[in-house]
Parts: sequence; C-alpha cells; structure tokens
Amino acid sequence: MNYTNLLEKQRSFFATQATKDISFRIQQLKRFKNSIQKNEKLLFEAIYKDFKKSDYETHITELSLIYHEIDLAIVKIKKWTKKKSITPSLANFPSRAYSIPEPLGNALIIGAWNYPYQLSLGPVVGAIAAGCTIILKPSEIAHHSAIAMEKIIKENFNDNYFKVILGAVPETTELLAHKFDTIFFTGSTTVGKIVYQAAAKHLTPVTLELGGKSPAIITEHCNIDMAAKRLVWSKFLNAGQTCIAPDYIMVAESIQSTLIEALIKYIKKFDYSIDNKNYTQIINQKNFDRLKQLMPQKKVIYGGDCIQNERIITPTLLDNITFDDSIMQEEIFGPLLPIITYKNIDSAIEDIKKIPQPLSCYLFTKNKKLRHKILRELSFGGGAINDAVMHITEIDLPFGGVGASGMGSYHGEAGFKAFSHYKSILQKPFWFEPNLKYAPYTKTKLSIIKKLLG
Ligand code: NAD
Repeated sequence: MNYTNLLEKQRSFFATQATKDISFRIQQLKRFKNSIQKNEKLLFEAIYKDFKKSDYETHITELSLIYHEIDLAIVKIKKWTKKKSITPSLANFPSRAYSIPEPLGNALIIGAWNYPYQLSLGPVVGAIAAGCTIILKPSEIAHHSAIAMEKIIKENFNDNYFKVILGAVPETTELLAHKFDTIFFTGSTTVGKIVYQAAAKHLTPVTLELGGKSPAIITEHCNIDMAAKRLVWSKFLNAGQTCIAPDYIMVAESIQSTLIEALIKYIKKFDYSIDNKNYTQIINQKNFDRLKQLMPQKKVIYGGDCIQNERIITPTLLDNITFDDSIMQEEIFGPLLPIITYKNIDSAIEDIKKIPQPLSCYLFTKNKKLRHKILRELSFGGGAINDAVMHITEIDLPFGGVGASGMGSYHGEAGFKAFSHYKSILQKPFWFEPNLKYAPYTKTKLSIIKKLLG
C-alpha cells in the first residue's frame, strides 16, 4: 500500500500538459461513457450482489445520470473553458481583464456506497472536463460495485491519468497523507471532518458532499394525494438509503390523518414486499441492526417488518414523533419515515432550524407566501417544491450541501468548477501609460485621481 509511485506518475503526466487540450478531454469523456456503456451488464450484476439493487433503479438513479453528465460536459466544455472577461476600470486604461480556468491538478475522489456508481463516477466527469488526473477510491462497503469499477477503469485508462484504488479506512488514510491538488469527498459528516483535516495539512482545497436530516414540510394548502405519491417514491427508493431522501415529515395537524392514509395507499400500491425484485436490501448487517435499533416500536403505525436473512426492512411509518425521539438525533438512511405534526408553521420552522443545515428540504404547498417564507428562512443544500429527490436529475443545477451537509457543489458546470482554478489576468499594451500613479504625488494628481476613480 504505497501510493508514492502512482502519485509521481500522475504528477509527471499532468506536467506534460496533455490533459489541458480540450480535444484530449473530449476524447476521455467519450471513452469514459463508452467504457461504462459496454460494461452495463457487469455493473448491474455487481450492484445486485451488493444490495439487490434492480437494473431499473440502477439505470435511472445511477448510469443515466452519469451519461447525462458526460453528454452535457462534451457539449459545454468549450464554453466552460473559455476565458471570462470583465470591463476593466479606468485605472487600467487601456487594458483587458479576464479569468481563465485551469485544472487544479491531481485529484483524489472518495465515494460513498449508497449510489456506488453515481457517487464515484459522477464527480469524475467534472475532473476529466476540468483537465485533472484522477485517483478514485470508491466505498469498500459496496464491495462488488467497487471491484467492477476498478476493472472497467483499468481496462480503459492509463494509471498515470485515471486509477481506481480499492480499499477501506487504512487505504484512504494512507492516500490522505499524500498531497493532492484537490479532494472531492462524498460521505458522512464525521468522515468529512477527517478528510478536511487531512487536506488542511497540505492546504488542499476540498469539496465535501455530506449528509443530514432532510425535512419534508407538508402544509394544508396542498394536493395531499400527489404529495404522498411523490414522498413514498422518493423515501423508499433504494430502501431509503439516499442522502437526499426525505428523512422526516413535518405535517400540518389538520391534514395529518389524510396524509397518512394516502402514504399507506401508495406504499401498498408500489408493493415493497419481499417478492418485489425492485425493492433494495439494506446494505449490510451493521446498518440493518442500526435501523432496527432506531425504530421506536410503539410508534410504528405501518410496516416495521425486519426480515433478517434478506436484510429487508419494509417501508415503515412512525407517528407521534417529537424532536426528542432518538430517531430524530441522527440521519436515518433507511426506510423509516417519522411523522411530526405541527400546529403552527413558525414554530415548525424554528424546530427545523435547531437541526444542523440539511442537504435537502422539500416543501409541499400551493401557498406562495409560505413558499417564499420557507425558502428565505431555512438554510439547506438544495431541494424541491411539491416534489422530493428529483432536483438531482437537473444536471445543470449545482448540487451540494451547506454547513454540516457539506461545502462546494458539483454537477454540470459546477462539477467543472469544483476541479478548476480561475486564474485572473490583467493584460495591457505598451503604447500608453499615464503618469498619475507615479511619484511625485502632488495635490493636482490627487484631485484628478479623486475625480476619475472616486
Ligand atoms: P462514510 O463517511 O462512512 O464513507 C465514505 C468514504 O469514506 C468511503 O469511501 C470510506 O471508505 C471512507 N472512510 C470511511 N471512514 C473513513 C476514515 N475514518 N478515514 C478515511 N476514510 C474513511 O459514508 P458512507 O457510509 O459511505 O455514506 C453514507 C453517508 O454519506 C451519509 O451520511 C449520507 O448522507 C452521505 N452521502 C452524501 C451524499 C451527497 O451527495 N452529499 C451522497 C451519498 C451519501
């Protein structure tokens, strides 16, 4: 486990300037898409072995998002890499002023297990588009998926440009001891702090894509049936193991029972039974046990079945939950949906604010005033109005957290920017140079300067 040679090779390759050619980047993006496409079967089989994630969910929540990212980057790369000009001030007349994006250099990308392909290969798109070299360390927890990615990348890319390293905490710790030019991390807030500390030793910039408790607020001014349908899909997708899943519901007291009825209707309709091949397993025994422990049995109003040998937990609704319950003390990351009833929206907002800023927030309402109020008062990474999770499919919207849910963002141009530095340049000709800035500093010069520059 010595990465010095690999890093040296990547540094030397970056120094050749090869990754800076736009044609090289486009070629690598095409190769990247092609290598994934021709290995779809391998990827589907691997993720199914990890947690019985179906081909359908793998396609819509992982591969198709990566393909969209790549396609967008290929179309937009010329625009993204163009220098961006501003109008220079009078102090620099005559001149031009602009910034040019340059690749940060050698990038380390660390992925999470819950969407093993999207969260590992997705950030790679921005890194390739920006012109970085890449070391990718996927999560060891989705073991088979990580091995599949390693195989595909090894067969299609040179180590000196793009390499997948398999491993867990020791390997990641070893990697983090080295100097990278940028680190892109997806995972828990706890490990995010470890990564940030390791990066600080080398003053390496980081993008941290972390988690949190994302609320779904359901007000009385709402199409309850549609809200329930969208909530059930977004919460139980991937068995709730989604960083942007609605973690808990805050519902107006007047519509609480109608909402619960509608939620149950759709859970039944979508058939999350053990026979449903589209319902994902809990990733491992440790998480299965954690979720079982987290479930307050007395508050279960629907579901709650834990099928040990299959690591399946059926969609579970929990009512009469308060912010003091243990389930409200950590990110759930599983198919348990606590429901908190509120009487007054102002106190509901105050309660949400007591929890660290979440990665997402969802608001179901037709009330415009309330929409403005909540968007203004609550701080969170991103979200949706009258839907949940789907904002991630808008590849051109920057995606990222704030505060405890992360720093920086990616997807589309934001992904390109995450791996770029903008070099700002002032460019002057030789033919003109006013004497105003040179000594002697006279009163006349000062009054002219004041008139010109304010
Ligand atoms: P994790 O933090 O346990 O692991 C993430 C990565 O860090 C893995 O590659 C792992 O090998 C590595 N790692 C773990 N412990 C480490 C240590 N002590 N030192 C160095 N590296 C270490 O997270 P996870 O369990 O894979 O994912 C779940 C968390 O990630 C949840 O909190 C979820 O909300 C968050 N998440 C965020 C996003 C996002 O886009 N913001 C997406 C998915 C998951």
